[in-house]
Amino acid sequence: IDKWAWRGIRVLSLVGMMMDYMLPKRVMSWKEAWEIYFEQNGGALFADLARYGIKVPECLTQCSEDKEHISHQAWATFYQYGGAAAFHTWMPNDEEMDWLSAKYPNTFDKYYRARFTHWRDEAEKGNRFYSNTLPMLCQVCQIPMIFTEPGDPTKICYRESEYEGEKYHTCSDGCQHIFDDEPEKYAQAWLPVHQIYQGNCFPEGTDPTVEGFDPLAAVLDWYHFNNGHDNLDFEGSRDQANFAAWRGMATKNT
Ligand SMILES: [Zn+2]
Ligand SMILES: [Zn+2]
Repeated sequence: IDKWAWRGIRVLSLVGMMMDYMLPKRVMSWKEAWEIYFEQNGGALFADLARYGIKVPECLTQCSEDKEHISHQAWATFYQYGGAAAFHTWMPNDEEMDWLSAKYPNTFDKYYRARFTHWRDEAEKGNRFYSNTLPMLCQVCQIPMIFTEPGDPTKICYRESEYEGEKYHTCSDGCQHIFDDEPEKYAQAWLPVHQIYQGNCFPEGTDPTVEGFDPLAAVLDWYHFNNGHDNLDFEGSRDQANFAAWRGMATKNT
């Protein structure tokens, strides 16, 4: 239960990001959803299971802290690495930022709003920020190393384990624990970023030694990315035009 609670919760960071940033009509914040569906409903379930000796997963203390941060940290990461993700990203407008400030009174203004406003202003001036590197991935959950230390939301959390003379990096105590329980399994993980940097993600027959070789274009080709269409900013994208057209056809719920 400890293992699968944590594996599931890590993937839910992406759902949190979608709820807080990507939905055209926000229903509830990630934090509210976590409180209702996990803390309240899940809490009641675990209280019931206590009679069988089943305990609440040990990661729960960290999760109550993380619910204030993970959606913002995930969105910030996909925004910066917008060339490498097969969807568009953007910075919220003022109204959306106000919603986030209201939903996250303890953290959004303090840790995220100024940076997001800066990125948005820069994008409006034509300096949309993209990182030209690739993020390091957690050996277990394979999410970029974007999460912060328990107790310090300004410091990236990473953990290191050794197995058969090699070092392996994980994003959290939860993922490190899972790695250390079964290192022989997780040491084999096919991590996209590692494979790209090792040159294993070029189309067959690619010669990386030819003059003017563009590694990024070759990798995107291997992944069947239509560069500039599938990725980068929402502003100016085909998706944006489609969405505006579909919205224009709506006769209700506009
Ligand atoms: Zn991880
Ligand atoms: Zn264990």
